[in-house]
Amino acid sequence: MTAPTSSKVIGIDNYRTTTKEESDSLDITRLALQMQQTLELTPLLQTFCHETARIVPCDSVRYENDNSVLNYQTGEKRSHLCSYQLEIEGDLLGKIECTRSKPFSIKETNLLERLLSLLIYPLRNALLYQKAVAEAHRDPLTGINNRAAFDEALSREICSFKRHLTSFSLLVVDIDHFKKINDTYGHIVGDTVLRSVAQGIRNTVRRSDEVFRYGGEEFVVLLSNTEIDGAKFIAERIRKEIKNLTFNVNENINVTASIGVSATNTIRDVNDTLFHADKALYQAKEEGRDKVIIRP
Ligand code: GH3
Ligand code: MG
Ligand code: MG
Repeated sequence: MTAPTSSKVIGIDNYRTTTKEESDSLDITRLALQMQQTLELTPLLQTFCHETARIVPCDSVRYENDNSVLNYQTGEKRSHLCSYQLEIEGDLLGKIECTRSKPFSIKETNLLERLLSLLIYPLRNALLYQKAVAEAHRDPLTGINNRAAFDEALSREICSFKRHLTSFSLLVVDIDHFKKINDTYGHIVGDTVLRSVAQGIRNTVRRSDEVFRYGGEEFVVLLSNTEIDGAKFIAERIRKEIKNLTFNVNENINVTASIGVSATNTIRDVNDTLFHADKALYQAKEEGRDKVIIRP
């Protein structure tokens, strides 16, 4: 004989609530769980702002942080405001502002503060994670994006081209006879030249264009929404900018760079864009350096 068994699936969605307190308490439990589910800043803030606007309720919930590029807002701002600075052990994590068209009661601000207490540690973790990801994508010598960042950005552009046919161009920039700089003036001067060239390229392109140190004395520029003519124009500007840099090491020294350019093309496979830019670079070297070569 087997013992009678009873089995039930228990989850927080199975509960029925009758009072406002019960429903708030369930919402708080649900939000606490949701806050544990991601390290990514955007979905974390999205969930928090939307849920807070619903639970309290508010017309708008806004997150702001001077140290992070991300601000997030849900809803339209109204005249009555509750504002909180978020801080853990002296670490400033940003500010949350909730607004609505009628005043907040004490009960509601208490509820708001309970909700904020659920956000604060997950928010700190997400900000630390965001910082770690940014560091992993940064080249320590020049401060610009590194090759790992380039690989991700290129995959993103390729996907976007395949889906929406949004064109992009690639510039591969290689300093000419850079080994001679190291051999003649030493690696510290070589490093200074690399930093200045990186900065020079950065200053020459638009904010939306991305510059990467691909490796050694080689840089890649990714120009979104740019056809070959625009890419050629920018490549020439970069070549001239690098040529005009002057380094004073007892004497004035200058460097030049060769640049290979390629753009997406519906006939050719988009995955080969980097290969073609690289081929163009080799051609520029063969043809005497300090040159831009295009492979459309
Ligand atoms: P080419 O015109 O054909 O490009 O010649 P090149 O001398 O620029 O190219 P090559 O590949 O022969 O030499 C690249 C040099 O870049 C060799 C390497 O020591 C140097 N290098 C790579 N990374 C760094 C770095 O981080 N700092 C310094 N100072 N030098 C570096
Ligand atoms: Mg070189
Ligand atoms: Mg090289």
